[in-house]
Amino acid sequence: YRVWETHKVRTTCPHCATGCQFDLVVKDNKIVDCLAADGPSNKGLLCVKGRSGSFDFVHADDRIKYPLIKNKKTGEFERASWDEALDLVASKFMEIKKQYGSDSLAGFACSRSPNEDIYMVQKMVRTCFGTNNTDNCARVCHSASVAGLAMTLGSGAMTNPIGDITKDVDAILLVGSNPEEAHPVVGMQIRQAVAKGAKLIVVDPRDIDLSKKATIHLKLKPGTNVAFANGIMHILIRDGLVDEKFIKERTEGYEELAEIVKEYTPEKVAKECHIDADDLVKAAHIYAEADKAPIIYCLGVTEHSQGTEGVMSMSNIAMLCGKLGKSGCGVNPLRGQNNVQGACDMGAQPTDFPGYQKVANPDVIKKFEDAWGVKLPTEVGIHATDVFPAAIEGKIKGLYIYGEDPVVTDADTTHIIKALKSLDFFVVQELFMTETAQLADVILPGMSYAEKEGTFSNTERRVQRVRKAVDLTKNPEFDIRLDTDIIIDLMNRMGYPQKHMTAAEIMDEVASLTPSFAGISHERLDSEEVAGQGLQWPCTSKEHPGTPIMHVDRFSRGLGWLYPTTYKPSKELPDEEYPTILMTGRILYHYTTRAMTGRTPGLMEIEGKSFIEINEQDAARIGIKNGERIKVSSRRGSVETTARVGDKVSPGETWMPFHFPDGNCNWLTNAALDPICRIPEYKVCAVKLEKI
Ligand code: SF4
Repeated sequence: YRVWETHKVRTTCPHCATGCQFDLVVKDNKIVDCLAADGPSNKGLLCVKGRSGSFDFVHADDRIKYPLIKNKKTGEFERASWDEALDLVASKFMEIKKQYGSDSLAGFACSRSPNEDIYMVQKMVRTCFGTNNTDNCARVCHSASVAGLAMTLGSGAMTNPIGDITKDVDAILLVGSNPEEAHPVVGMQIRQAVAKGAKLIVVDPRDIDLSKKATIHLKLKPGTNVAFANGIMHILIRDGLVDEKFIKERTEGYEELAEIVKEYTPEKVAKECHIDADDLVKAAHIYAEADKAPIIYCLGVTEHSQGTEGVMSMSNIAMLCGKLGKSGCGVNPLRGQNNVQGACDMGAQPTDFPGYQKVANPDVIKKFEDAWGVKLPTEVGIHATDVFPAAIEGKIKGLYIYGEDPVVTDADTTHIIKALKSLDFFVVQELFMTETAQLADVILPGMSYAEKEGTFSNTERRVQRVRKAVDLTKNPEFDIRLDTDIIIDLMNRMGYPQKHMTAAEIMDEVASLTPSFAGISHERLDSEEVAGQGLQWPCTSKEHPGTPIMHVDRFSRGLGWLYPTTYKPSKELPDEEYPTILMTGRILYHYTTRAMTGRTPGLMEIEGKSFIEINEQDAARIGIKNGERIKVSSRRGSVETTARVGDKVSPGETWMPFHFPDGNCNWLTNAALDPICRIPEYKVCAVKLEKI
């Protein structure tokens, strides 16, 4: 392209929650390039997903371009006018509400859409459906962080900024996280820290690129995080490595915790976790003796039936060593999707209004009732992962999904499809004909991040602007609308008088009702004062500069809670019939369901199909060679995929990415749920491998 014929629009990457800033280069209402900007979390860096996977999908030929209603007789989708589609959606949901009650309805918000869209979705569910059955995809990735960090520290979010935990630190404890693939720009910064001398402890059942740079790699058995963490705490206490002053002044529950971890000797833990006891002792000493040492973790900690307690264990380790509330330390979950932090912040949760204000609190209910002018439900809603079984049981009759694709992303695909087919009425608001959208009764066409104004909140609680770069309503093939306008039109049709608002006005409403967002507005984010750095919540007034490091003088809950817990094995362990553990995860070149990155030809050329990593000993036993096709089966289903033979995984263990519909691992995964946060156990299930 000729540079002088283009203009640039500064915005935020729509893939992972690192929140990299870039400029979309626009020519004739079309994005033609994407250039790194010097943002607060990316410092001029971009990964391959952001650099090349952020605009082809916006202009893809197979975008849903107008409303679609499924013809009940033929099963085919037919083009509809906006009035037809919106009237049908509103009347059907209200019929179901009248016949079966408010709690027979549920609505999920999209963790990839802006805060303003998410706020309006949960507002629609609460004011029009009359239920707290609203959720977002954090339920299946970091709900354990939201619950576990809130219970131990008082706030379910990353404690320190990315730059702070990767610059000038002495050690990094990286648990269940492969940032070079899932959060590549964070991964690059960790690699730089290690190059400058930081010691790296990698705790991961699989070899990752960063484990080659690690001082110690604890290649533990999948599902044994709590045993590992209790072992670390045993050593910290036994060897006098704890910060007694911090424990005394800032925490509660120490005696009970110390009693529980007494039995987790290095030898016992080493046996349970399949690691070396001396390495465990060395890891505890490196972490405790370092001045600046953050814990960074991801889905390897959360996606277990004991995920919430795994997260609380991360808080426990940091609190025992007094490594919270100060620079270069903290407990730092790398959130997954670009705005999954925001989806939780904006109240798309069955337990919370925006800003984690509890639906169980009568004062909170009254505040929102006064502001929204409607009687609100007071019962906690059901979580997304419980909505599917409830649909099969006939308790949930109508479902609205804004931009999620649970058929691909949720554990045990068979039960998700059965649940969606059990619904009386199902609406999807989407960019593409996803596997989930195909099962809908009505599809409302959505707009991408590049077509609207708004904000995303990245993993470090930084609220940053999303800006409109192109206007596809000018294209005669498209009959699309702003997603917030669609929701507002539906609200009015369902009997709730909601005036149309711009994204900036919606954020002003959020700020007026949410103490932690009180100082955040589009005007301020666009101002010279903020200068493209965004604002990190809590930001409690127009003068408040935001909060880079949390829990400095006190924890959000007052005293930090040293939560005592015992290790519980995963729900499904290998046996004679299914002798191998399957873990799942992500790869560098794709993002979640590859709905966006899968429309960039270059990324598909590098990685376009599913595969399974198998240890060479297991491959030899079943006679499989690298690159051969293989059948993988669990108690829930079977898939065929391609074997990658090597030693990245240990004998008896396998690993698959979840991005690809061909041979998707979620036909195999186990929907056993964590009892606290209701996250499924994606990281451990039992499978058998057969040569095809
Ligand atoms: Fe986008 Fe994440 Fe890559 Fe940054 S690291 S460019 S936010 S995908």
